[in-house]
Amino acid sequence: MIELRARGRTLAQIAQRVGLTRQGVHEALKRTQGQLAPIVCRHCKSAIPGTNGANLSGELMCRDCLDTYPRISLAVRLTSLRIMAGLTQSELAEKTGVSQSLISLAERDNHQPRPKLRLRLLAFLESARAARTRR
Ligand SMILES: [Zn+2]
Repeated sequence: MIELRARGRTLAQIAQRVGLTRQGVHEALKRTQGQLAPIVCRHCKSAIPGTNGANLSGELMCRDCLDTYPRISLAVRLTSLRIMAGLTQSELAEKTGVSQSLISLAERDNHQPRPKLRLRLLAFLESARAARTRR
């Protein structure tokens, strides 16, 4: 369907071709695009690897930008690294022994974890992300 769409077919034409309603094609295309599209860095606008289909439209930054701007808020840093590592908040909570509500608050910038905890979370995410990239 994506190929047909890319070749400039209308929804109605695709619908006829694949035997769905027009609405059905619309929904299917939306779903597929959502699954495939990576999140774009809010700063440099480059696609962030590993974020394809992440269910989040927040403000993420890519690895390079996070490295370039050390003063980026913990909220953005934490969320970006977590998504790049392919983890949900609850998975991160489970693996680090930090409560999910705390992670959720920190990602919304409503809580500043103590330096020690902050380091633990970031260090864990760094290694999780690195491990994922190697796969
Ligand atoms: Zn960037």
